[in-house]
Amino acid sequence: MSMHYDVIVLGAGASGLMLAAQAARRGRKVLVVEKANKVGKKILMSGGGKCNFTNLYVEPENFISHNPHFVISALSRYSNWDFIGLVCDYGIAYEERKHGQLFTLNGSKDILNMLLAECDKTKQVNIKTDCEVKAVKQLDHQLFEVQSTLATFTCESLVIASGGLSIPTLGGSGIGYDLAKQFGHQVFSTRAGLVPFTFSDQFKEVTTRLSGNALEVTLSNDKNSFTEALLFTHRGLSGPSSLQLSNYWQTGESFQINFFPTQDLADYLKQKKQQQPKVLLRTLLSELTTKSIVLELQQLIWPHYAEIAIAQLSDSTLEQIAAQLHGFVVKPSGTEGYRTAEVTLGGVDTAEISSKTMQSQKVKGLYFIGEVLDVTGHLGGYNFQWAWSSAYAAAQYV
Ligand SMILES: Cc1cc2nc3c(=O)[nH]c(=O)nc-3n(C[C@H](O)[C@H](O)[C@H](O)COP(=O)(O)OP(=O)(O)OC[C@H]3O[C@@H](n4cnc5c(N)ncnc54)[C@H](O)[C@@H]3O)c2cc1C
Repeated sequence: MSMHYDVIVLGAGASGLMLAAQAARRGRKVLVVEKANKVGKKILMSGGGKCNFTNLYVEPENFISHNPHFVISALSRYSNWDFIGLVCDYGIAYEERKHGQLFTLNGSKDILNMLLAECDKTKQVNIKTDCEVKAVKQLDHQLFEVQSTLATFTCESLVIASGGLSIPTLGGSGIGYDLAKQFGHQVFSTRAGLVPFTFSDQFKEVTTRLSGNALEVTLSNDKNSFTEALLFTHRGLSGPSSLQLSNYWQTGESFQINFFPTQDLADYLKQKKQQQPKVLLRTLLSELTTKSIVLELQQLIWPHYAEIAIAQLSDSTLEQIAAQLHGFVVKPSGTEGYRTAEVTLGGVDTAEISSKTMQSQKVKGLYFIGEVLDVTGHLGGYNFQWAWSSAYAAAQYV
């Protein structure tokens, strides 16, 4: 068994497989080492099994990083259109869902099989599963030694594509951060992202009772605002709007729920007061959303007026109720954490990485790609697009 490779990739996930395929096209001999028994586990699980592989509208603003300009170069050199082109070359059926999100029609395995076929094309890529990297040493100026549970390998270019900490059962590990620190890089503290909120106050009882109900809302705090579905769960709040806002939320902060984002409720209620004076508030609002949600909101916001006809309520009372329904403040106790998070926020500081090549500015031959970097996408296919784009950038130089 040959022990020396031009390139060793740590991790056979989205970015690692993409890099291997692209580097092999340049004639590089590549070894991909993967600790799990299968490659691309997160790809298979992604998008509810349908893999939201990219988005029609990709902008640098869709990514969170301490260094927001870092993504621009890689995203423009290998764009969403490049990846869509590859998907089309393979005849993979896909559909556009809300907000430009692209999903496969026949399952995530189509994307994984495509990446593996790309790796196979050149016969230059060797993939080893059940092979966990334990340690890395730099032997001399540009020779790395990679110690794994299978064997010890050497290479000229070492690519860290080990992902983040989310869902440990799918391979999430901290080795990328440890290696970055070992080679003198700064690593921003990490936390779970794209993750449901949990509650321990009285609002938890409400979410438990409403568990399984969903509605379109706007969630906002002083950093960002998202209008998407909200799902009540036994533990708290989930659904796309919660996952999106979790990327912008810190422990101890509250945020606002606008339960009727497309309606001017104060105007609506005052109009109805003229047209249907005997009606109850809950009856009116039940025309706009699910009755069980309205009953909980009634308990929270207007319990004293529950049985009072709208004509008896002053305009200022209606305005106050409308204001609460448009900006109901909740304070999560936390999130579900890495156990269910889709991504990890924070990671390897990109200020010390070339945005053109993904190479370390401290150690020649060392590269970081994908989620291990301090780059996190919004929900909607942006995290995979970052994996594809950062991998492509590095593949031209490894
Ligand atoms: C449930 C779920 C659903 C998701 N859905 C979507 C979606 O639809 N669209 C989207 O854009 N993003 C989605 N994401 C996020 C997306 O999967 C990740 O952002 C993306 O996979 C990151 O790619 P990566 O190559 O950096 O890391 P990964 O794909 O996580 O790959 C890292 C690999 O490194 C391996 N590894 C770790 N440590 C070692 C070691 N010591 N030795 C050897 N190998 C090691 C891991 O086993 C893993 O296979 C989802 C994530 C989850 C958890």
